[in-house]
Amino acid sequence: MAKELRAQKLHTLVDSLGRGVNYLRISLTDRCNLKCIYCHPPHSIDFLDRSDICSYGEILQVVKTAARLGIDKVRLTGGELFLRKGIMDFIRSLSQLKALREITLTTNGLLLLPHLKALKEMGIKRINVSLDTMSKALFYHVTGSRKFDAVKEAIHQALQEGFKIKINMVVLRGLNDGEINQFIDKFAERSAEIRFIEFMPLCGSGWKGNYFFPYEKIKRTITSEYDLYPLPSSGVAQEFAVGNDRGIIGKVGIIAPVTRPFCGSCSRLRLSAKGELRPCLFSSKKIDLLSILRGGSRSDQVERNIENAFKKAVAMKTFSKQTQSVDNDVLIRSIGG
Ligand code: SAM
Repeated sequence: MAKELRAQKLHTLVDSLGRGVNYLRISLTDRCNLKCIYCHPPHSIDFLDRSDICSYGEILQVVKTAARLGIDKVRLTGGELFLRKGIMDFIRSLSQLKALREITLTTNGLLLLPHLKALKEMGIKRINVSLDTMSKALFYHVTGSRKFDAVKEAIHQALQEGFKIKINMVVLRGLNDGEINQFIDKFAERSAEIRFIEFMPLCGSGWKGNYFFPYEKIKRTITSEYDLYPLPSSGVAQEFAVGNDRGIIGKVGIIAPVTRPFCGSCSRLRLSAKGELRPCLFSSKKIDLLSILRGGSRSDQVERNIENAFKKAVAMKTFSKQTQSVDNDVLIRSIGG
């Protein structure tokens, strides 16, 4: 069966290229407890007013409606999701939605440790933890935080508890590019997948091209010490089995939105902290769900409007061979990284 027909059969949400869309990334807050140099602009930023952020009830309403259209995978992110009050009760409510096949989290790991057991009980299996360096001093330089050990401990315990962990490392030229192979050495054998990410221009005026370290260089650095065997990649990362003279030791992914845009394999939509439904991290197109949710219409009408918004957002998904430039004030934390 042609790919498009198969997608139409399996999903209600099919984009203009016939790709089924089943994945929603939700930013729960624009607040973060780190000030990473690649994420936080150099000037101070105004946080969203609490009243302008989708409430948990509103997010649940959106997810329930989206699930009827075929959204069955949700990733919770931010900002830092564990900063939001009541987060565990919210994740519990989400985990009770039968239509969702998977809930995953992206966190900086600082506040993760005390929640691991409860997350496991709720059926969460996969967590992405962002960590850019093994050096406490560089961690402080990159993030502004001295809590490196808390992240290290959370990753250690999460692996012990049996979570599938992906480590997100944004590779920054002259800062941590020398640690690429150390990360493989440290994590691959512990069954954590490492995802090396190209620095993207999504930090407003904080973008510094001189930190940019492209896909080809990441790959060349790895192959100077390891063998890489391409794997069929299902998502946005180019995935490889990584090996040495003892055989395959683990798995790595390279996410290269700048030099190798991955629109062709992107099946996600994004809900920002302030309730904007976006077709893509790099798109300035958005649909305001908060005004639909708070517009005072009858609940069946609200539901229909949300459904239509999802269909429209999916139609906005395009295929680009080049990463589009984004407004200077677009910050990854409010859209959801
Ligand atoms: N607080 C969570 C965390 O740190 O993982 C979730 C939010 S963070 C914005 C999500 C991911 O986006 C992190 O892995 C972070 O490293 C990545 N990220 C942020 N800004 C980026 C940029 N300019 N280029 C590439 N990746 C970026």
